Amino acid sequence: MTGTELRRPAERSCERCGRRETWADGGWRVRAVGEVFCVHEWDINGSFAPLRLADDA
Ligand SMILES: [Zn+2]
Repeated sequence: MTGTELRRPAERSCERCGRRETWADGGWRVRAVGEVFCVHEWDINGSFAPLRLADDA
């Protein structure tokens, strides 16, 4: 069962530079490039908190 797939956000945007990406075909597709050297602060649809490190544990 792939529960993580259901919780994966479909869109994310950077609060700092305005970069926008959408999830498609197993990867993030860039919709707006934003700032190349930005340490992106992702806002995932306003509520989703990414737990990438926890998923690896
Ligand atoms: Zn950014």
